[in-house]
Amino acid sequence: MNKLKSHALIYILAAALALSGCAAHRPGSVPQQTGKEEGSSRKEENGQDEETSPTYYYDKEYAAEDGWPWTDYSVFRSMDPSLEISEKDNFYAAVNKDWLTTTPLPDGYGSYDALAEQQMQVKADLMGLIEDRSVSAPDLDMVRAFYDLFMNWEGRNEEGLEPLKKIIQPLQEADSLKEMSEYICSYDTILAGIQPLTFYVSTDLEDSEWNTVYLGPGPLILDDPGYYRQMEDGDYAYQPIYTQAAAGILERLGYSPRQAERAVANCFYFEWLISESMMSVEETYAPDAIDRMNNHVTLEEIRKAEGDFPAAEVLEAAGMGQSDRYILLEPEWLEAMADIYSQDYLEEIRDYMIVNDIIIYMTLLDRDAYDAYYETINSINEIDGSLDDREAAYNTIDKYMNLVLAQVYFHNFADEQSRQEITDLIDKVVAYYRTMLDSEDFLSRETVEKAVEKLNALRIQVAYPEEDYDFGDASILPPSEGGTLMDAMYTIFEVNLNSELEQINQKVDPDEWSFPSHRVNAAYDSSQNSICITAAILGGSYYHKDMTPEELYGGIGTIIGHEISHAFDTSGALYDKDGCYKNWWEKEDYSAFRKRADDLISYFDEISVNSWTRCSGELVDTEAIADLCGVKCMLAMARDIEDFDYDLFFRTYAANWRSLYTSNIQYFAVSQDSHPLNYLRVNVILQQFDEFYDTYGITEGDGMYLAPEDRLVIW
Ligand SMILES: [Zn+2]
Repeated sequence: MNKLKSHALIYILAAALALSGCAAHRPGSVPQQTGKEEGSSRKEENGQDEETSPTYYYDKEYAAEDGWPWTDYSVFRSMDPSLEISEKDNFYAAVNKDWLTTTPLPDGYGSYDALAEQQMQVKADLMGLIEDRSVSAPDLDMVRAFYDLFMNWEGRNEEGLEPLKKIIQPLQEADSLKEMSEYICSYDTILAGIQPLTFYVSTDLEDSEWNTVYLGPGPLILDDPGYYRQMEDGDYAYQPIYTQAAAGILERLGYSPRQAERAVANCFYFEWLISESMMSVEETYAPDAIDRMNNHVTLEEIRKAEGDFPAAEVLEAAGMGQSDRYILLEPEWLEAMADIYSQDYLEEIRDYMIVNDIIIYMTLLDRDAYDAYYETINSINEIDGSLDDREAAYNTIDKYMNLVLAQVYFHNFADEQSRQEITDLIDKVVAYYRTMLDSEDFLSRETVEKAVEKLNALRIQVAYPEEDYDFGDASILPPSEGGTLMDAMYTIFEVNLNSELEQINQKVDPDEWSFPSHRVNAAYDSSQNSICITAAILGGSYYHKDMTPEELYGGIGTIIGHEISHAFDTSGALYDKDGCYKNWWEKEDYSAFRKRADDLISYFDEISVNSWTRCSGELVDTEAIADLCGVKCMLAMARDIEDFDYDLFFRTYAANWRSLYTSNIQYFAVSQDSHPLNYLRVNVILQQFDEFYDTYGITEGDGMYLAPEDRLVIW
């Protein structure tokens, strides 16, 4: 029900940043919200703040450092409406000024953008259906039962922390390494408990026809191992917030305040210790990342490397002991676990699992636990107000049952005509790519031929899959039939596990979709050489029936161009036409391409977002290349259209990247998101094209100007 492949293989159009639950670390030099002293009117309850005029928090410290012309006005209320701003200086801000200065961040949201606006429409459609009890279908009934269980606060409050106790009690009682290993290998833990490892079945890196079992590190509270490396600075702004949240639950479970604090400290200590041997998010996007992760091993080799840590035993207990293939994602991590997993660290490992279980389950327990969780997340992300319960219920369905929800969506809301029109548009874009690749004189014929082969083999997924998903005979009992939310979670976990088990030693289903249809997004899957344009993104300002060609090209057109480009960017070069991890470029061609990409990386590395934040070129290069290529492709297609309105095209493009976020989410995005910040997806991209200079008469001295010799040429 919830099967999405590992992020290393799938490139999506935009990452969801709101409510990520991830802690952003900001260095100690962060200005303490300068100018925010008057900020009480920021957003009053019910969104009514007419009494006081809105306060703008703009301060020069939030601006880019000297030498960088653009301030990121997506930071919520950083833009003063009286500011005069020209298209020639900051195109993103000029086009989106009205939206940026009048749009509120919805209650419970830390970021909001054009994709989120369209997602709200999709949500409203689906919620209408879920709440209309005159309509029934097996998938819809399953979603509705889960929705009712989530909203059944009376039942949830009655159960209190009991469901959590059931998971962690055996863990609390594990006094020896042997008992700990038994706990980690038990079926209940495999289904529902946090373990210091993860495993899943997905496409084999080197042989994309087959599935393989992947083994890697367990989750960390702060998500990115890179954050822990800065921990010694004693500057971990958000750790105390998590400590408070988890400690509150531990005290409810009977711990004394001191015991609770110690347990959380133990958990962070273990995470800090193990994170040393794990790849940071930035490293997982580096050029050598897949090489580092592509380690085919046997179960015996895992057993030899694991020491007392029962990694191979967990795989066997989960039913994955008979796989012909295993990939060990991070051998250094397993080596470190072999060292750490001992009687000496028993307490730390136990507390790691207990605290992580608490964080994972808080939103599924009673009201007090639920509220305490959102208080934490809102405080970390600087979010005001709280999410409506109905929307929270929807988000939880989306998190744990995304394929069921996707199916409900395409059964009820997708339309065949849009699907056909978009498929035709993709054909046109593919035809353009053929010409583009063919005319690249920096590439040898060998590489060009292979590129065209890869283009010809591209799999295209538009709107919704041909066939329904198979959920087996899974059923979720609503509260009226005695079901509970945790029972439903166990059902979901079991369906997921069984569906993974069925794929072991089996060929990959080539028709499997890489992305659920109800998400307003698009994706390229390297392991299948496929692009996916979901049904949900075929609406709002991205696509509608009466669009002009300029709006079409500035909307879904650039998105299609973006996704196809991933087949040929620095990461796409590493996967062949069938999705196998194999560099198909001639050596010199690849070096020439890397040189171009390195120029782009250096350009982004220099960009100052504000006085304490710089971009990371290595993190964003593939997505920036895809954006460049998407726009280039549409501009080339525009040449065939008489009197093409370039101004409308550029405005449409810039408007589709409009976004707002809190400054903490901005920092989180810069350090973790492989997409550049939206104002850079507009300004950096457009300043590379002659058509843009000609349309607005941009010349030296203008903020958008870049000298011709400095412009980035990738394709
Ligand atoms: Zn992308």
